[in-house]
Amino acid sequence: MKKSSSSSSSSSSSSSSSSLVLNNNLTCDVCVCIVRSISHRLTWQAYHRLGDIHDFFDYLAKTYPDICSVEIIGYSLQKRPLKILNNFFKYLTYFLLPSPHPKNKRISNGRASNPSIWIDGGMHAREWISPAAVTYIANQIVEGWDDLPLHMRDINWYVHPVANPDGYEYSHTTDRLWRKNMRSHGRQCPGVDLNRNFGYKWGGRGTSANPCSQTYRGTKAFSEPEAFYISKFISSFPKETFKAYLSFHCYGQYILYPWGYDYLDTADMADLDLVARQAGTSIAKSSGVKYTVGASANTLYPAAGGSDDWAKGIAEIKYSYTIEMGDTGRYGFILPAHYIESNGKDAYTVVDTITRAITMGKNSRRRHCTATDSGLLTCNSALNASEFSLNLPSVPRTVLYEKSFGVKCRSHTRGNSLPTFN
Ligand SMILES: [Zn+2]
Repeated sequence: MKKSSSSSSSSSSSSSSSSLVLNNNLTCDVCVCIVRSISHRLTWQAYHRLGDIHDFFDYLAKTYPDICSVEIIGYSLQKRPLKILNNFFKYLTYFLLPSPHPKNKRISNGRASNPSIWIDGGMHAREWISPAAVTYIANQIVEGWDDLPLHMRDINWYVHPVANPDGYEYSHTTDRLWRKNMRSHGRQCPGVDLNRNFGYKWGGRGTSANPCSQTYRGTKAFSEPEAFYISKFISSFPKETFKAYLSFHCYGQYILYPWGYDYLDTADMADLDLVARQAGTSIAKSSGVKYTVGASANTLYPAAGGSDDWAKGIAEIKYSYTIEMGDTGRYGFILPAHYIESNGKDAYTVVDTITRAITMGKNSRRRHCTATDSGLLTCNSALNASEFSLNLPSVPRTVLYEKSFGVKCRSHTRGNSLPTFN
């Protein structure tokens, strides 16, 4: 896909210094005004301020208007935009028009039947690797669109890189280890833990009623706009729209699935566990980094009101995960920037693996193929069927197969046997 001719050049503009200007040219302190921003690319050699991350999304939307757009889904307590990269416009126009509207907003190839995947980061302010990894993923998808395997393109993506923008900025300017949002409680300590504020089993284990606690849950479920607008946005779609909810945190190197509120398993725990283990194995193979897989409460500790529990329990999104990025504690939250790229790659591997499971079936890594005497290899999975002409045992065709599906050909035989690909 071609870049739009209006694409702006790369710029390394610093921090969130976009000038805030009212219509009548009066400056203001909050962002309920027109923001004059310069869209630009991003790098993954440094941690970036909120303004730079948002400008980067503006750059992607301007440069690739045929596959993505930005949308503000709400505002934080301090009126910062909750900005996502998405395909929101599609469901407003797609069904009204015979073909995709030119202004169709999406990160997708525009098929209405695509499954949707939500990715968020930065819910906890100090976990800087999370927005960095999530923007890395967005960049891989959008800038690398033409070379993406089919299973990554047959998705409508929704990417929210900084779910707690007020806290994130505060962690840059004032307190590097700030975790919560910036809710004021008068003379008491500020902040609510957004990942204890979601509306499923809110107020249970692993949460605190004390505003000074790092795990303060707020006064009620969704008392905080940053959590509320995520739930409002996801809930505005028909159920079944979202097939995965992926929330990136740090640290510890875990891939966690519900439940978090108690030491309990979901009914489809085996599915969630299988796909999480596939992701963990893929990371180990590609980068050598080890991720631990398991149910949140059983693996880490119980924590009610988490976003992944809400996504599973209320929004009924099957593949709901919290991914705790690296490291395992050497640097903890203060992870040096030169670890961003390797973490970004691992995060992308998680997304790729889960996406493959969604589009091709959870057993896609054990694909069955039939090779006929004429040299035609037909490979099927639950949701996809693809054919490749294959002259067995021609290595290049096998490589083509591997490139297309990212799986290795373990064995194959002529005739009507069923070779296994792993
Ligand atoms: Zn966190």
